[in-house]
Amino acid sequence: MRYCVNCLNVSTRPNIVFTDNGLCYPCANYKAEPDIDWDERAEKLAEIVAFAKANNQSGYDCIVGVSGGKDSTRQALHIRERFGLNPLLVSMNYPPQQVSQRGVDNLSNLIEQGFDCINISCAPRTWKKAMRYAFISYGNWAKATEFALFASVPRVAVAYQIPLIWWGESAAASLGDMGVLGSHASDGNRLKYSNTLGGGDTSWLMAAGLDAKDILQYAYPTDEEMERANIKIVFMDYFMKDFTSFANGNYAALRGLSIREAQPNLDPDYFGTSMLDEDFININMHVRYLKFGFGRTSDIVNLEIRSGRMTREEGISLVKRFDHAYDPSLVQKFARYIDVDLDEFWKIVDRYVNGELFERAGRGHYRPKFAVGVGT
Ligand SMILES: [Zn+2]
Repeated sequence: MRYCVNCLNVSTRPNIVFTDNGLCYPCANYKAEPDIDWDERAEKLAEIVAFAKANNQSGYDCIVGVSGGKDSTRQALHIRERFGLNPLLVSMNYPPQQVSQRGVDNLSNLIEQGFDCINISCAPRTWKKAMRYAFISYGNWAKATEFALFASVPRVAVAYQIPLIWWGESAAASLGDMGVLGSHASDGNRLKYSNTLGGGDTSWLMAAGLDAKDILQYAYPTDEEMERANIKIVFMDYFMKDFTSFANGNYAALRGLSIREAQPNLDPDYFGTSMLDEDFININMHVRYLKFGFGRTSDIVNLEIRSGRMTREEGISLVKRFDHAYDPSLVQKFARYIDVDLDEFWKIVDRYVNGELFERAGRGHYRPKFAVGVGT
């Protein structure tokens, strides 16, 4: 595993590339920022806004997928107030057993600012079955739910004939997932080619024992359907100087977002502002850490280093302290939710632990063999 020379992004991240001088793609992008021609981007934005207005057939100019979290709160308000567009919000809701009260409150807070929102709920039992299968078969329960989440917005766009979909940030520019890179840095039409969605084929869910009729909401529109409907997906961060986790968190908190009390020894999001609508994602992030050697603290620290608010050394010490953290009581809750016992849970996790990066030191304990930040 090698590290970016600037931040703590790792070569084990799926689909990542490094430049010849050792920078990860997001850092290389960031370093090029002083050269960005913002006037040119403003012109491109004006074209996109004009496209949405010219092709508006339903009264809604565009769609934004929202959870009510910091990024979607900022997006919805910015689109309406700065871009002058009339957005329809679409929210894919977690089932009642999974959604947090905070998530419900935050979505309420967002729509109370005067938005129409379509809420989509998938059948909870199918949802859980798909999650269980994805966790056992891929070590990634969210693989199942992300299909539904990512498909929901373009499905509504096709159904309502809404020409434009805004997505917050490009996974290529922010994380280094190059699978989604389109013809232009703001072009999100390849979104379904991300590492998780891999083109949007849902046939793997049939292997979970689900029928085609159970997983209709998990199917992303085909490329032909998207083309026929003339839908553009655009990454907003390309047009905004400060679309960052930190700025969005402040912006949304000032407009009523409820955040969680940071408990970095149990939850490596030491700001407490991300992934507020449910808690099981922490399980996923912990397994991701054991698979690839980077956890949520790494994600946050990389953004902080890139923006100049933190040195690489400070980042290393935070990653060492918190990246491996998880809440044992949450593991218990999750295991109960997907109906496995704790021994089974850790046996499943064992299968995904990267033996080159970690050695097993008892049930649920893994010792890293790598030194954080060393080796570029
Ligand atoms: Zn980097």
